[in-house]
Amino acid sequence: MNSCQSPSAGITPRHADSPPCNRKLVCKWFPGEHNRVCNQQFESQRDLICHLNHVHGVNGTAKREIRCQWLLNADSSLTCSRVVRRAGFSRHVDVHVEATFMCSYPGCKKSYSRQDVLQKHIIKHHTQSNSLP
Ligand SMILES: [Zn+2]
Ligand SMILES: [Zn+2]
Ligand SMILES: [Zn+2]
Repeated sequence: MNSCQSPSAGITPRHADSPPCNRKLVCKWFPGEHNRVCNQQFESQRDLICHLNHVHGVNGTAKREIRCQWLLNADSSLTCSRVVRRAGFSRHVDVHVEATFMCSYPGCKKSYSRQDVLQKHIIKHHTQSNSLP
C-alpha cells in the first residue's frame, strides 16, 4: 500500500486547525565538523536512499564498508559512526529514517522517533499557548 502523497498534489486538509503530523524523511547526513547537516526532506525512502547514494556517495564507491555519518544529536554533533557493509547500508538507514517524525509547525525543528511523542509535543507546545504551570 502506498499512502505517500505529495503535499503539492492539491489535497485539501480536512481540518485546518488539526495538528499537522506530516511524516517526512529527513536526511541527517553530517559530512563533518565544518559542514552542516544535510537536512533535505524526502517523500519516500527510495528517494532518500537514492539521494544518499548520489550526494553522499554511500553506494557509489568501491568501499566495502561505510561509516554511517547520520546525525543523532545536533547539539553535540553526535553521529551514528557505525561501520556498515555497503550491501546492508540501505537497511541500516532504515533504523534512522523509520524513526523520524518531524514537527511541521513553521519554525519548529523538533523531530521524534515516535509519532505519539510528536503528538504530545504538538499538543504541549503548539496548541496550549497559555499553559502556565
Ligand atoms: Zn543528504
Ligand atoms: Zn547509522
Ligand atoms: Zn514543534
